Parts: sequence; structure tokens; C-alpha cells
Amino acid sequence: MLKKHFLLVMLVPVLCFSQVGGGEYTFNPDNIPCISKEDKAQIKIELQKNIKSLIQQGKLPQQKKSTLAPPSFIWPVKAKDNSEFTDVWAISNYVDHNSNFPDKVEDYNCDKRTYDTSSGYNHQGTDMYTWPFTWYQFENNIAEVVAAAAGTIILKHDGEFDMSCSFNNNRWNSIYIEHSDGSIAWYGHLKKGSLTSKNKGDTVSEGEFLGIVGSSGNSTGPHLHFEVYDSNENLVDPFKGECSSNTSLWKEQPNYYEPHINAIFTHSVAPNPNSSCPEIEVPNIVEEFLPNSKIFTASYYKDQLKGTTASYRLIRPNGSVFTRWSFDFDDTFTSSFWYWEWTNLADLGTWTFESNYQGQTVRKKFKIVSVLGVENHELTKINIAPNPFENILKLKGFDLDKDNFKMDIFNNLGQKVVEKNTFYDELDLQFLTKGMYFLKLTDKTNSSYKTFTILKK
Ligand SMILES: [Zn+2]
Repeated sequence: MLKKHFLLVMLVPVLCFSQVGGGEYTFNPDNIPCISKEDKAQIKIELQKNIKSLIQQGKLPQQKKSTLAPPSFIWPVKAKDNSEFTDVWAISNYVDHNSNFPDKVEDYNCDKRTYDTSSGYNHQGTDMYTWPFTWYQFENNIAEVVAAAAGTIILKHDGEFDMSCSFNNNRWNSIYIEHSDGSIAWYGHLKKGSLTSKNKGDTVSEGEFLGIVGSSGNSTGPHLHFEVYDSNENLVDPFKGECSSNTSLWKEQPNYYEPHINAIFTHSVAPNPNSSCPEIEVPNIVEEFLPNSKIFTASYYKDQLKGTTASYRLIRPNGSVFTRWSFDFDDTFTSSFWYWEWTNLADLGTWTFESNYQGQTVRKKFKIVSVLGVENHELTKINIAPNPFENILKLKGFDLDKDNFKMDIFNNLGQKVVEKNTFYDELDLQFLTKGMYFLKLTDKTNSSYKTFTILKK
């Protein structure tokens, strides 16, 4: 799923070398169909049945209002409020306008960002996958599906398994909304139990919450499949283009490529936004570091474009620029990430990592601190001896209730190597390799903690 590119670049004018890592992230590389023919036929039957009964109940107009203006869509995926992501989606596939198969594809832009299969499936919707940290977003309900246009819910289906990684013939969790002109939008692959509490016959307004992006049904990872039909049940591609229609159903149709920074983070270990599906990624997003410890500054892009350049700055606590650098993209990727590693940031205080791309500027604050976290003054009496130590680490001067404390030891990559759920006066750390570690002593009653730097000889 992930192609990695590593190279060594020299940063000028800083007198150091910094390793860059990262590369492309590809969603649904195997192009599995989002929905089976049988399933689609079944859904269409249920939709017609529900429309009839809703008309009888007076919840839908008697006659199709196909003469009314078609809907005007807003984007149906957005980051939840106050999320740490600037954006959460990228597009893997548009509608396939070429009815031949296999490998006879044409999207609205007469390009090939769509797919078909040898069994005759031509992709009929727009797939918006969550990026970056797709399963982390899923787990934390970060990417919301909202109504692209106001309308009436005519079918809602929930309760299906939502962590699919392959074609499985499961049904998807989904919502279907009819607009005033009789057209219908399908929202598929939603997260189980996340769907709006509204039901069939209820109306929703534009932008109203419908559910969380998930991976229910035939799906290789969390994404929204957005499919639209007109009042005569003809498939509609909401995108206007040379190989589609002359009308865009979007209020503001995104460009074919929308180069964008979806997120920037600082990490304690080199980021790996790829997971073996459906494992939830561990992003190791950290915003507090000790001086000269390893810090990874990472930017996550959608539609990085060949021939464009991203630029970056690291700004010291006093506002002066520590370094600036740029990076040329020699490929076009639907989604990608690039990171740099630092071990020479020492000035105490709040730093800013700034990432610039295509006129967009995103800033992330992080701190260099002498002691990690809130200092617990009760713990300042503690002595660690010997330090450096050989095998046994001894802690003296502790006179509190041991069961109220926990001890964790991290290596200099930020990975936890020891975890104790109570306080110990003595720890046997023979098994650790030589080097620097951080012992974090946490008071479980109030979460205050103190971190000690320890050195194994
Ligand atoms: Zn799809």
C-alpha cells in the first residue's frame, strides 16, 4: 500500500544533516467494487418501496418534482470541530464514464482516476477516503459525513461490521436522502452505530451530521462512497467536466487536483500512516520534547503535484527562524507524507513548525521543556542512584503511597519499554540496551508526573 522514498538532503544554512522520509499512500490499490450488483438492486427496490410509503404518509410530495432545480451540494466529508487535522479527505476514485471493461476507464475529466472490474463493475460514485491515519480517524470519530444537500431520509441501514479490509459481500451502513427535485444521494460505508438518530421520513438540512466515515460493506478501509441518482433513477456524476455533463451539482466544484496540506504534526517516532488493515495506526503525536531529543516534523498532503514545491520553517521560541527548507515534488500523488528528523532543537520554550504549500500555511506549536509534564513537587525529593546505572536502578526518598503511582520507562524514540502499575524502590533493568532513557513517575490520583533522565552503562 505504501511506497517509501528515502533520501538524504542537506539543510542550508543549518550545519547539520537531516533525514527525510515519507512517500506515497495509496488507497484501495486493488480496486475492489464498493457494492455488489445484487446489493445495489436490493437497495433500489427498498428505496422505491419506502418512497411509495412515504408518499402515502404525506412525508414526500405526491408527484416527482423533476422540474425543480437540482440540488447544489456542499462537500459531504468534514473534520469534526476542533480536530487536530486541517482536512481529512482525499479522492481515490470518481465515477467511471466508460461503460466498457475491464481497464476501460474515464472519469469526468477524461482522466483515469476511477476503476472498473473484469466482472463488469464500473465505479458509480465518488470515493473520499480519510487521510492521514485513516483508522485512527475512524477510531476517534474524526471524519464526519454530512448531508451534501437538504432532503428527506428515505432509507437508513445500520448495524453492519465496519472494519472491512476486502470484498466480503457484507451490506454497508448507509443513508439515502431524496432532495426536493426527486434526486437521491447515497452515503455508503458508514461506521456502525454512528448514524444520525433521525429515521426514514425525517428531513435533514444541508450540512447536517449523518454519520462517521467507516469501512462497512465491500471496502478496503474507511471512506465515503457518495453516489447520486436523478428523479428518473439515472446515475448522475455531480462533477462537471469534458467527459461528464455540463452541469456541476457542487456549489463549489473542487479542482481535479486539490493540492492541500491535510495535517501537520510533531512526532516522537518516525510516522507510519500505513497500517495493515484494520490495525489502528499509532501516530505518536507528541507536543512536548526534551532538549536535543528526537523530533519528527511531518506534513501530510493530498494531491501533491509533480513540479510543485513545499516549504517549511522551524521557528524558535524567541521568534527567530531556526531553519527554513524546501522540498520539490517529482511525482503526483493522491496522498503523501514527508517528514524530517531533528535532534538539535535545544532552546526551551514554544517552537513553531510551519508548513507551506500552494498558498496554504499551516502552523503547529510544540514545546522544548527541561522536564516533561507537570512537575510533582512531592517527587523532587527522589534520588536516583546510581545514575548512570548498570543493571539495577534504585530510587530513594519516596515516602508516599506506592499504589497511587505508576512508573513508565521510555527509550529515546519515545517507545515505552517498561510499564509498572505501582512504585518500586528498585528496578532490575538488565534487559535494556545501553543508552539514554526517561523514567516517568506518575501520580495516578492527579496525573501529575516527573520525568527523570537515566543512563544505562
Ligand atoms: Zn466507491
